[in-house]
Amino acid sequence: MIYSDRLRTFLHTLEGPAAEGEFPFDRLRLQAQENGVPVIRLEMEQFLQVLLELKRPEHILEVGTAIGYSAMRMASFTSSDVKITTIENYEPRIEEAQRNFASCPWNERISLIRGDAAEVLGTLERSAYDFIFMDAAKAQYIHFLPDVLRVLKTGGLLISDNVLQDGVILESHYAVERRDRTIYRRMRDYLRVLCRTEGLTTSVIPIGDGAAVTIKEQDTVEIPAEGSLSQGE
Ligand code: SAH
Ligand code: MG
Repeated sequence: MIYSDRLRTFLHTLEGPAAEGEFPFDRLRLQAQENGVPVIRLEMEQFLQVLLELKRPEHILEVGTAIGYSAMRMASFTSSDVKITTIENYEPRIEEAQRNFASCPWNERISLIRGDAAEVLGTLERSAYDFIFMDAAKAQYIHFLPDVLRVLKTGGLLISDNVLQDGVILESHYAVERRDRTIYRRMRDYLRVLCRTEGLTTSVIPIGDGAAVTIKEQDTVEIPAEGSLSQGE
């Protein structure tokens, strides 16, 4: 997005150096980026911190652990009674995440569930979480949504990351490469559901790669059947 790289560079200049003895988030973030692991960006990190301090959740669910960066970051932003459950299905990253968790001060507050979120989400308890960070395969968000809303408490917050794909989702259908069209269509459907469904309140924000913040306002939220949404793009 237009400002996002400049904003990030600017924000990094505002950050002071890490204090002595602090957990080395900067080093971990740089390492991850060098290895092509898409960890949250600094502006998203700051946004999550603000949301977490406003919401003060008890139990956070994350879909997409990668190497555990954002899970540890969220742990560092919340008080010692806050639990974080995080789901990941890619073995090499699971191992790295577990090593990172074991060496961080928040280890006992973070539980990693290994497996495909499409299956794992179905096994989680209804209304068990009051803050959900959706940060996995973008084309699957729409499929995860019914279970995500089932496990989210009424009044809870759902944060979906990377929903604008650096602006690609805002382009006309014709401007989108054929290979990107599935993700494009599904992400548009996803945003449409978040914005239109009764009982959900959503704001789409051009921060990082695009984020959607959704509040679940009602106990039961009826999501329109898939396919009934697509507009003729
Ligand atoms: N939240 C992390 C980054 C996550 S990157 C951070 O900011 O630090 C997205 C992760 O989602 C990848 O590691 C990928 O393997 C995982 N993922 C994608 N689809 C998934 C699925 N269906 N089930 C579980 N994990 C999935
Ligand atoms: Mg992300």
